[in-house]
Amino acid sequence: MMDGRALAERIRAEVAEEVRALGGIGLATVLVGDDAASEIYIRRKHEAAEAAGFRADDLRLPATIAEAELLERVSALNADDAVDALLVQLPLPDGIDEERVIRAVDPQKDVDGFHPLNAGELLLARPRLVPATARGVMALLAEYRIELDGARAVVVGRSAIVGKPVAQLLEQANATVTVCHSHTLDLARQTLDADVLVVATGRAAMISPDMVKTGSTVIDVGINRTEAGLVGDVDPGAEDVASHMTPVPGGVGPMTIACLLQNAVACARLRRGHD
Ligand code: NDP
Repeated sequence: MMDGRALAERIRAEVAEEVRALGGIGLATVLVGDDAASEIYIRRKHEAAEAAGFRADDLRLPATIAEAELLERVSALNADDAVDALLVQLPLPDGIDEERVIRAVDPQKDVDGFHPLNAGELLLARPRLVPATARGVMALLAEYRIELDGARAVVVGRSAIVGKPVAQLLEQANATVTVCHSHTLDLARQTLDADVLVVATGRAAMISPDMVKTGSTVIDVGINRTEAGLVGDVDPGAEDVASHMTPVPGGVGPMTIACLLQNAVACARLRRGHD
């Protein structure tokens, strides 16, 4: 099992050092409405940020807020010199155009790496601010010295926040990458060929052990709340077939938070002209 908690803890300690060396870093988060899962994510981000010595601002806005007012709030945070890194928690309530809000965030403060400018830099193999989950997946692969050069990698899921950036980073590490999605025919034929399989679909246990290549590495990004508790997108039985696999919980989840803090350090360095 690949221990995301242990690696995340080390990264968070390194981040705390960097925060001290930079004389403090300001992180601002914006939560619109009262989505229960989003509240949990925001709370975890703040706990981690505060433990690492960040100045953290937790802006809460009502679900009824007009898009124009939200855009004004974002623009005020962009202009605030005490804010190095800024994120607006997704999903946003109906009636607010997420795309417009993402574009409104200053690309240098875009700690989520969702702004089209940062997505474009990644596509052109000049990664700058990369979505934290993708960064976390790559850090886990590096930590366990998984060979990527020449490996066959299959990414199941093509979202802008997970599947796409993971596929880009794997390709930039010289893996041969196949991206699968809900229209892929005969998914098992693809996954069985994967030396490295990354799954981010949000479909509980959709990858069964017989879809996994013997001796491969399986990264399960999925977080699904079921009656049996939190489960991933990969059936835990796949552990017996794979040589390395991430658990859920305790795999990619903690890495996402740690890598978000790393991104905040990157924002601060960019703004202060260190990089
Ligand atoms: P999205 O819903 O945005 O994307 C899901 C992707 O999976 C889509 O590309 C979809 O295909 C594909 N898909 C759905 N069903 C199938 C299927 N049966 N076969 C093949 N592909 C399928 O989800 P996200 O990328 O945002 O998140 C994915 C999962 O990762 C969720 O469980 C989420 O909770 C979790 N997550 C975990 C994080 C962490 O820190 N561990 C962080 C972010 C997300 P199509 O494009 O054709 O619709």
